[in-house]
Amino acid sequence: MKYYSTNGVSQKSSFREVLLQGIAEDKGLFMPEVIPRLSQKEIFGFKEKKYPEIAFTIFSKFIGKEIPEKDLRKIVEDTYNFSVPIEKVRGVGSGTYVLRLDGGPTASFKDFAARTMARLMDYFMRSDEKKLTILVATSGDTGSAVANAFYGLENIEVIVLFPEKEVTSNQRRQMTTLGKNISVLAVKGKFDDCQAMVKRAFADSDLCEYNFSSANSINLGRLIPQSVYYFYSYSRVADSFWEKIIFSVPCGNFGNLCGGLIAQRMGLPVKKFVAAVNENDEFPIFLETGRYKKIVPSKKCVSNAMNVGHPSNLSRLIDFYNGQMDENGKIIKLPDLEKMRGEIFSVAVSDNETKKTIIDAYNKHMLLLEPHGAVAWKGLEVFLEKSGGKVEEKLVSLETAHPSKFPEEIEALLNIKPALHPCLKGVAEKKENFEIIENDYISFKNLLKGRKE
Ligand SMILES: *Cc1c(COP(=O)(O)O)cnc(C)c1O
Repeated sequence: MKYYSTNGVSQKSSFREVLLQGIAEDKGLFMPEVIPRLSQKEIFGFKEKKYPEIAFTIFSKFIGKEIPEKDLRKIVEDTYNFSVPIEKVRGVGSGTYVLRLDGGPTASFKDFAARTMARLMDYFMRSDEKKLTILVATSGDTGSAVANAFYGLENIEVIVLFPEKEVTSNQRRQMTTLGKNISVLAVKGKFDDCQAMVKRAFADSDLCEYNFSSANSINLGRLIPQSVYYFYSYSRVADSFWEKIIFSVPCGNFGNLCGGLIAQRMGLPVKKFVAAVNENDEFPIFLETGRYKKIVPSKKCVSNAMNVGHPSNLSRLIDFYNGQMDENGKIIKLPDLEKMRGEIFSVAVSDNETKKTIIDAYNKHMLLLEPHGAVAWKGLEVFLEKSGGKVEEKLVSLETAHPSKFPEEIEALLNIKPALHPCLKGVAEKKENFEIIENDYISFKNLLKGRKE
C-alpha cells in the first residue's frame, strides 16, 4: 500500500513514512492510493468480533506487511482495553442510538486514535537512533489524549500547544499535570493560531535538528483508527446484510468524518453522514454554495473542541470527491459537489440550540449529552425534519466526550452533577506545569531552538 499527497507533488510514501512524517514534503496531506475493500460478509461478520479484532482487520489492510501480524495484534489488544457503549435512545422510533466514544483514559474520542498512534510510532521508532518530537495543537481534547497516550515513551517527546483561554480547566489539567516527556504551551491566541504555528514549524528548515511529527488529524495515522468505530457500531445495530445506516458526526477539524468516509469507501453501507458543526459554519456554507471562506478568528462556542475556522482535513474531504484544496484553503479544483451533497448533509448549530438540546434530550429521552454530542444530536434532528419524516434507516449519533469533562455547563443546564469519569478524579489537586507564550511564530521558534542548546 502506498500513500500520495493531496498537493500532488511529493513522492508516494509507505505507511511508516506517512505516520512518522505526519505531513507530506509538499505540505499536502497523505491519502491512501487505493482504499481497501471489505466484503459485506466480512463487515456483517464483525457482529461476532470484539473491538480489537475489528481494528486489527482494518489496520492490517492499510499497514500490510510493514508490521507482522503478531505484533499488530498485540498493539490493538493493548490499545482498546476500554468499553465502547452504544446506547439505545428511548422515545425516538425503533432504531436510534448514541455511540459513546468517551470510555478511553482521557474521556474523549481522541483516545481511539492517539493510543493507536503512540503504539505504532513507538513500534517504528524502536529501531531508530533519532528522537521523535510530536508537535500537537489542541482545541481541548487532542492534547490530553496524545499526552496520555505518549506519556513515558523513551524515544518520543510531545509538545502541546493550546489556546490559553479556550480550553476548560479539566481539559487543561489533563495535559499539564503529567510532566516527563510531555511539555505544554499555552498560546495567547486561538486554536487556528496554534495549528498554523505547528504547521510552520514542520516546514521550517531552521528547525532541522528536530525530527518532527504530528499527532493532529493531519496525520493519516489518526484517521484509520477513527474508521473502526463506524464498523463496530454498524455491526452492533444492523440487522441485515446491506442495511444502510445514518451517522451524525460533530465536526471541528473533520478528522472524525474522514474516518467515516474511509469506512464507507471500504464498503460500509452508509446512507448519509450528518456533518454537524457549531457556529463555525465555513463547511456547510461551502457545501451549499461551492465558495470557501475561513472564519478568522474562529467563533468561541461551548463545544470548544470544534472551534475551528479552517479545518485542516477539508483538503482530504475535497480530495475524496476529486477536488483539490491547498494548505492555505485555496480551492484549486472544485470537488464533485453534487456527489458530496448526496453523501453528506451539513448543518451549523448555534450555542443556544446546543444548550437547549442538552436540556431537551435529557428531559425527553433521558439522554445525557455534553456540548459536542449535543451538536451532533441536534444535527440529526434537523436532518430528520428536513427529510419530512421519510427516513427509515437506523440512526447513530456520535457522542465524542464524557459529560463530566464539562461539569459547569451541564450543572447550569440540568441542575445535576454528571458522575465523574475515573480519569478526572484527583486531577484538580495535581500540580500543573506549563508555559504561556505570545501568539507569534518567532517566540515559538526561539523556544524550540532554546531547547536544543
Ligand atoms: C476533537 C473533537 C471534536 C471534533 O472532531 P474533528 O475530528 O476535529 O472533527 C468533536 N468533539 C470532541 C469532544 C472533540 O474532542
